[in-house]
Amino acid sequence: MQKLLTPPVDGLKPVLVTGTPGPSPPPMPGRSSAFTTAFGCPREFLGNRFVYVVISSRARGLSIGVNMNPDQRCDFDCPYCEVNREPPVREKSLEVDVMAAELEETLALAHAGRLRDLPAYRQAPDELLKLRHVTLSGDGEPTLCPNFVAVVHTVIHVRALGKFPFFKIVLITNATGLDLPPVRQGLEFFTAQDEVWAKLDAGTQAYMNRVNGPDCSLEKALANILSLARRRPVVIQSLFPLLNGCEPPPEEIAQYVQRLKELKERGAQIPLVQIYSARRPTPLSDCSHLPLRSLSRIAQTVRNDTGLKAEVF
Ligand code: SF4
Repeated sequence: MQKLLTPPVDGLKPVLVTGTPGPSPPPMPGRSSAFTTAFGCPREFLGNRFVYVVISSRARGLSIGVNMNPDQRCDFDCPYCEVNREPPVREKSLEVDVMAAELEETLALAHAGRLRDLPAYRQAPDELLKLRHVTLSGDGEPTLCPNFVAVVHTVIHVRALGKFPFFKIVLITNATGLDLPPVRQGLEFFTAQDEVWAKLDAGTQAYMNRVNGPDCSLEKALANILSLARRRPVVIQSLFPLLNGCEPPPEEIAQYVQRLKELKERGAQIPLVQIYSARRPTPLSDCSHLPLRSLSRIAQTVRNDTGLKAEVF
């Protein structure tokens, strides 16, 4: 159920609290008392259909997200995925005009400091509530969004109107669709300040099959990352979960680091490797957070063996 927290002020819509667009589905197992801090909070849709806010450690603060896949379409099936695909989807596709209006309203709320009305954000330091970027992300793989170009165009248009301070756009992708013609076309509109964050969780096809359940090969994902990263910098996002109580095997980490090394040697511009783990509850109970010391060890190996900047989130 949506909950009205504040009355409309200064022409802004009231702040609504709802973890999902439209009526809330039944909570996933374990999703109740765990979210007491802004960083642990799930995405908050504020009553919107397509645009949400979230405090993200990788963003280092507030991120406004566009759910590019309300239909939850993805060509991966990661065991750590937070998207609950059991209830029927509420939206079949992203309506660009609605998204644009929601984005403008959410930007207005963020810049007016009204997000502090959200209970989970009430105690958050100002620094965390500063908008870091607008992400193209969501409940699936954004490069599979049928109106990818129109969405990119529209978000860039909202930015170009100049009603709000400049915001960076970040595409968060599993990299498998980066070679699709509409995606290549959409990325042409990105400026040098905008970013692409691409997933790389494995160094071998066998391990990728376990952690991503992909419809495509590791070879293709790597080729897509390389092709784009030769043209513009690509941040690598690597999530290492504890699967059935097991850490990723050391030989798999060695292969993963080798893949990063090969990307770099072949001309990929990789300004940062983000190392992190499953954080929020997932529909599967056999997937959890890797100990911090293990994540730190992986990051150190990346730094030592590739010379790339690697940070743990
Ligand atoms: S790529 Fe992302 S959306 Fe797709 S299954 Fe994995 S975590 Fe979920």
